[in-house]
Amino acid sequence: MIEKRQFYINGAWVNPIEGRDHPVIDPSTEEACAVISLGGQADVDAAVAAAKAAFPAWMATAPEARIALVEKFLEAYQARAEDIAQAVSSEMGAPIALARTAQVGAGMGHTKNFIRAAKAFEFNRPLSEQSPDTRIVYEAIGVCALITPWNWPLNQISLKVIAALIAGCTMILKPSEESPLDALIFAECIDAAGFPKGVFNLVNGDGVGVGTALTTHEDVDMVSFTGSTRAGIAISKAAADSLKRVHLELGGKGANVIFDDADDAAIKRGVLHMMNNSGQSCNAPSRMLVQKGIYDKSVEAAAEIAKSVTVGSAHEDGRHIGPVVNESQFNKIQDLIQKGIDEGAKLVAGGTGRPDGLNRGFFVKPTVFADVNNQMTIARQEIFGPVLSIIPFDTEEEAVEIANDTPYGLTNYVQTTDGDRANRMSLKLRSGMVEMNGKPRGPGAPFGGMKASGNGREGGIWGLEDFMEVKAISGWTL
Ligand code: NAD
Repeated sequence: MIEKRQFYINGAWVNPIEGRDHPVIDPSTEEACAVISLGGQADVDAAVAAAKAAFPAWMATAPEARIALVEKFLEAYQARAEDIAQAVSSEMGAPIALARTAQVGAGMGHTKNFIRAAKAFEFNRPLSEQSPDTRIVYEAIGVCALITPWNWPLNQISLKVIAALIAGCTMILKPSEESPLDALIFAECIDAAGFPKGVFNLVNGDGVGVGTALTTHEDVDMVSFTGSTRAGIAISKAAADSLKRVHLELGGKGANVIFDDADDAAIKRGVLHMMNNSGQSCNAPSRMLVQKGIYDKSVEAAAEIAKSVTVGSAHEDGRHIGPVVNESQFNKIQDLIQKGIDEGAKLVAGGTGRPDGLNRGFFVKPTVFADVNNQMTIARQEIFGPVLSIIPFDTEEEAVEIANDTPYGLTNYVQTTDGDRANRMSLKLRSGMVEMNGKPRGPGAPFGGMKASGNGREGGIWGLEDFMEVKAISGWTL
């Protein structure tokens, strides 16, 4: 059993002051694969004090020097890629092939994109040709609390930590207690790169304990949070008394609008995207809106594709999907599938209970419901499991109305071969991102949502700017 009770504070691995043991459960086996420590107020106080002390010198360090250390970090991260993949696979259940490629790869990709964006970024620039003695200076916000979830852990940690480092902030990372092992290796990579002590600190803990201690701490200037809308609301309230900047990346209930003239691969693409990472993605296309002309054959095709998705242990190689993260998510998903049945949606693939042959582990059947209407619970709540809801529609206007009728606004999807219609749709959908015809966003594009999906933008230049204040200086000597 792995024992990783220490925290990383002020450039050293230290024993917790208020630690409580916490088992990390492998969702493929339901057995503990590691034990960590959940810290408390005194651990947070020590980490915040280290970050506060390190801030003036780190903020004043030239951006080029900060970027150079991030480049060293990237070398260390690449060298530990296999260790990180194994950790992710054990702690949150991503199949090892997915962990090696998409999970670990997200951390590398974001780090590279931030380095590229930062090298081209002018941290100190004139306002305009007309006002050359007015300078616009981008300056680090200060001490940041970075609170991350378990579903794409390296993605979320790198989007926050790397941006904050390059911006000149100092920080305390609190990874999810469900997925602390990859974060501990990430911290070892930071240590190997040789950042000044106190710039980066890590304290493990739960939301109620370390999470609240960070979001209410008077010496924390900003909270960057990714996770549930429920926690985002609690954090915003907790941070309000000390007027911290709060950056939120929350849940989603994306619509994937498939028109009669969509390309042949649209249904398959939509179903597989939904099932990827066992449906545990905030930007999952969980509501498939299908135009009536192709509705029946699309439902049939979607059911067949879902039935062809295999489910198995995260430790086996292959392109199957793994378990969901833990028992409470498993139970929540089972309840929501039952709710779909009870509310009259038509179950065309999957259903409640574990897939055949899997009696242990938090495995969920890839499930598809047809004839869903947008008021049903399965169309409104984020399920965070491999469950797709198919909703019929008639006209473009109706599709926009249904797609936007949700508290969320993270990513919507459009499938049509009519380019004018695609562009029109993309401007009408209320979400931070719109992906059309399977085209991914370019490297360095911002990631973030509207409405209950949050307010931040992560990645590239926008991700750097979120960690900086904009200072206007007049009378600059030329
Ligand atoms: P969660 O909100 O339960 O936990 C996320 C993190 O917040 C964990 O580190 C947890 O310990 C901490 N936390 C929980 N309550 C807290 C509190 N009151 N104060 C401070 N910290 C607190 O979410 P989760 O179950 O780990 O992750 C799944 C959720 O994350 C889903 O809703 C998903 O959509 C969302 N998500 C959003 C994005 C995005 O970028 N929009 C990306 C990934 C995941």
